Amino acid sequence: MPAFQALIDGYHRFRAGPWREQRLRYDALATAQAPRVMVIACSDSRVDPTRVFDAAPGEMFVLRNIANLVPPLDPTLAQSSVAAALEYAVLILKVDYVIVFGHARCGGIEASLSGAYRSPGAGEGDFIQRWMGLIAPVRDRVLEAVGSNPDIDPQPVLERASIRQSIANLRTYPFVREAEAAGRLRLAGAIFDIADGRLLLLDSESGAFSAVPAPS
Ligand SMILES: [Zn+2]
Repeated sequence: MPAFQALIDGYHRFRAGPWREQRLRYDALATAQAPRVMVIACSDSRVDPTRVFDAAPGEMFVLRNIANLVPPLDPTLAQSSVAAALEYAVLILKVDYVIVFGHARCGGIEASLSGAYRSPGAGEGDFIQRWMGLIAPVRDRVLEAVGSNPDIDPQPVLERASIRQSIANLRTYPFVREAEAAGRLRLAGAIFDIADGRLLLLDSESGAFSAVPAPS
């Protein structure tokens, strides 16, 4: 299997390179981690947040799922990977920031807009559409606002609106609300544009995204 052999080859490069170069860091990380930042990113293979932010091992607590969504608190849900990771980051690691990190040309957002996406083999379950149902009301509002204007592409509009919604959903978790109110935690939103490498940050006051100036 060439794909699996590529993993083993990568492991060999890692052990010969970064592992040796950062041996002291890995030794220190062997017993504990103390990242200051949690990033909620898309599973998309092109937008690894540790690459985009050039983070070293131990610096970033990462949760990834389709379209970097945060569901609102649901006390009836027995298991939630998002809630468990969030609780660990905020209450145990006591991170300073939770960042919802979206990206341009997100397939999950595209699926939400098309509403017709079907995974081959997913059968009756249709897990992607059910998951993207989390932002169906946001999508409907975006489509209504965009209306019949052919000059507006709803995809980037929904990518931004979805991040704003996920940040609002973060605040439905009492421990997030309390940490933010106490000044121990800040919530942020960002978008990475795969095509041109731009990073956009959400202005919490205006709700707008603006580009971080690129290094000269
Ligand atoms: Zn995506």
